[in-house]
Amino acid sequence: MLTFPILTYHKVQAIPPTPGYLCNYVLPAQFERQMAALEAWGYTSITLEQWVEIRSGRRMPPKRPIAITFDDGYRSIYENAWPVLRTRAMTATVFLVAGSIGETNRWVTEEAQEQLLNRNEIAEMCAGGVCFGSHTFTHRPLTNLPQPEALLELTRSRTALESLLGHPVTSLAYPYNKHNRWVRAIARRAGYQSAVLGRGRLNARWTNPQALMRIAVDLRMTIEEFESRLCRPRLATGL
Ligand SMILES: [Zn+2]
Repeated sequence: MLTFPILTYHKVQAIPPTPGYLCNYVLPAQFERQMAALEAWGYTSITLEQWVEIRSGRRMPPKRPIAITFDDGYRSIYENAWPVLRTRAMTATVFLVAGSIGETNRWVTEEAQEQLLNRNEIAEMCAGGVCFGSHTFTHRPLTNLPQPEALLELTRSRTALESLLGHPVTSLAYPYNKHNRWVRAIARRAGYQSAVLGRGRLNARWTNPQALMRIAVDLRMTIEEFESRLCRPRLATGL
């Protein structure tokens, strides 16, 4: 059976003196080892757009499809992850907070403030085959917002990113993985063909594309754990 793991990363960099959430870090050498392992194990990195085509039968699945995703759009992706991906001809999807391009992760004050990708870095990565999706406009949990405001977060970020990138933006990562039935419905209404969350499971063709599960990779994960998470036959149930 065709399974589709999606990995989640945040920051790929050395740990600062006061990091805040350690689970948001992976060391550059660790990331490089994980990408080399994916290549050695025969995985093919794809975008979420490609998965949408595969699950609907419009595209043939490659050997062992996998998606590599980054939340928040930190500059460390450009500095430390992008060179590794480019060397191996791997693609990835970066979910940007559209209202904070070139700024810092100011939505979370208890965490170290890190530089986010600027327009030039995004353009360079886009030209190199990296895909960009929305992580909303202000990174607030959509489930806590009144519906019109949640819809605005989704449409405003999509419009801003589309004018920055010059092509359609159709994938979304829910901030804090917070979603429910109406959030998924307005995400679809706002033009997102796929949306991702947490939960640590693999996806199948029948997994709801508005609720694709992801495996969070963090600092403490050994390469053996990394491998077992990809192979574990825990499939997402339909939402
Ligand atoms: Zn986030």
